[in-house]
Amino acid sequence: MPPPLLELRHVTVCRGNTTALSAVTLTIAAGEHVAILGPNGSGKSTLIKAIARECYPMALPGTIFRIFGEATWDVFRLRRRLGIVTFDLAEACHQELTGREVVLSGFFSGIGLWRNEPVTPAMERQCAAALAALDASHLGARLMTALSSGEARRLLIARALVHQPAALLLDEPTTSLDLRATHDLRVVLRRLAQNGTGLILVTHHLHEIVPEIERVILLRAGEVIGDGPKSAMLTPERLQALFGLPVQVRQENGYYQVQTQG
Ligand code: ADP
Repeated sequence: MPPPLLELRHVTVCRGNTTALSAVTLTIAAGEHVAILGPNGSGKSTLIKAIARECYPMALPGTIFRIFGEATWDVFRLRRRLGIVTFDLAEACHQELTGREVVLSGFFSGIGLWRNEPVTPAMERQCAAALAALDASHLGARLMTALSSGEARRLLIARALVHQPAALLLDEPTTSLDLRATHDLRVVLRRLAQNGTGLILVTHHLHEIVPEIERVILLRAGEVIGDGPKSAMLTPERLQALFGLPVQVRQENGYYQVQTQG
């Protein structure tokens, strides 16, 4: 059995005076497709930052934080196994850089290419393959500052794919995308999941939970309040407890939609 992609036991993370994650325990197997769903302030970004080694759990007795079975990682090694696409990355990449430069910079865990970072023919091939996988080959020569949000988002995912990681960790990937771009991105995510890339989707949008995601973890005020099959988690009762207001839930074509009254 390969070690789990993620194994967290009693993980507590403080940000300033706030306990952003409180004794979080969860395990995600390699190859699993999972959504971590929570309202604003529930600790989603903190969880992503902890996985990306941008903030650290408190060293309490019984705390375990392992990625692919290991407790210590440097960022460069981690990025080869786990592609991470966040808002911070989107902001950092919004520069006068071409799509190709942004995708290739994934090999160096930086933004843009520097003279001392030689791009090999193998890297160019991987870059072209990642762009093709995202239906984004035509965006390689375009400047990031001249792209729509949906186009830029696809390049960031291509950037995360250059190392052919076992899984992608995505932070609200369709935020600020219009209907068409949301649809196109979901098609791409579904294809990646079907081809064996694990998806860990961290979000408050139910419509991002593509049918291939079979498990949902509910996060509220820094605590896991539910973890199980999608059908058991995305119920009106559970979602009311999560978001703090009465909701109705509809399921259609493998997607869930939530509606509030008023
Ligand atoms: P989410 O991504 O689900 O909106 P966050 O992880 O950003 O949640 O925040 C979780 C909690 O930590 C919130 O109460 C938030 O106010 C707090 N928090 C986040 N960042 C900081 C920070 N830099 N300093 C202090 N508190 C923070």
